[in-house]
Amino acid sequence: DVLCVGHASFDLVFGVPHHPAADEKIVADRLLACGGGPAANAAITVARLGLKAGFAGYLGTDLYGERHLDELIEAGVDSRSVVRGTSPTPLSAVLVKPDGQRALVNYKGDTRPLPPQAFLPPATPARCILFDGHEPGLSEPVLGWRRAQGGITVLDAGSLHAGTEWLMFRVDHLVASEKFAAQWLGKDEPEQALAALAERSPCVVITLGERGLIWRRGTESGRLPAFPVEAVDTTGAGDVFHGAYAAGLAAGLDWPELLRHASAAGALCCTGLGARPAIPSRAEVERLLAA
Ligand code: ADP
Repeated sequence: DVLCVGHASFDLVFGVPHHPAADEKIVADRLLACGGGPAANAAITVARLGLKAGFAGYLGTDLYGERHLDELIEAGVDSRSVVRGTSPTPLSAVLVKPDGQRALVNYKGDTRPLPPQAFLPPATPARCILFDGHEPGLSEPVLGWRRAQGGITVLDAGSLHAGTEWLMFRVDHLVASEKFAAQWLGKDEPEQALAALAERSPCVVITLGERGLIWRRGTESGRLPAFPVEAVDTTGAGDVFHGAYAAGLAAGLDWPELLRHASAAGALCCTGLGARPAIPSRAEVERLLAA
């Protein structure tokens, strides 16, 4: 139903009393080691919500790549479009304080984009294709494949770089973070960015973290507050939001019900440490929506 195209990494998430100063040694009271990356997290979200999910992107043949691939397969994600290679799997160390504030180190591995011919289309066509913009080399062949097969395209635009710029006005749905909107417009004015983006895109959503989101679709527009939850760690909230958004499109949810569904999933992801273990099931999302 949904093919997620982009970045996969491996995350080491430490629960720490405070962030260490120079030369300071601190002890973590919790450790979580699991797969991460926007598109891979979104693919797992789609599967947890009960739809068929696929992932296209890179994983190394190292220990972290193997572990991540196992997680994708275990979650039921079609991983035939995963490209393997000897360069290391991207790795992130995340230090989360009790108040949820994070410090991050990202190791991006070999940042050269994958060659377009690396994309092996999954056997079944996808009703929705979600891009995170982090594998620009795959975007073009996937868009070509989509034109032949049909399907709705969505871009999760997290930060402005070559991959997101190339795709942003070629997709049906542009879902941008507040940070992306500010970078693109050159100032932190989300409403103004929304109006400007909507001139060149049929459907634009800007997510504003705990302040919810604003959207514009053709001549209609609106705002949706976030679901109030006890946020422990917001890692992955955006990824889960995008996965649930794509799943909602594939399932044919009405607008703006689709936005409530994605917001509920994003909010639930904030209630646990790390992204993966906090990805909600369909039943959990339905429970929050009914509350
Ligand atoms: P990104 O990680 O891409 O910047 P956001 O932080 O904007 O994404 O989060 C995406 C969506 O997840 C928000 O629009 C909101 O619906 C939900 N969300 C994020 N943070 C919270 C929070 N603290 N409480 C409730 N919902 C949240």
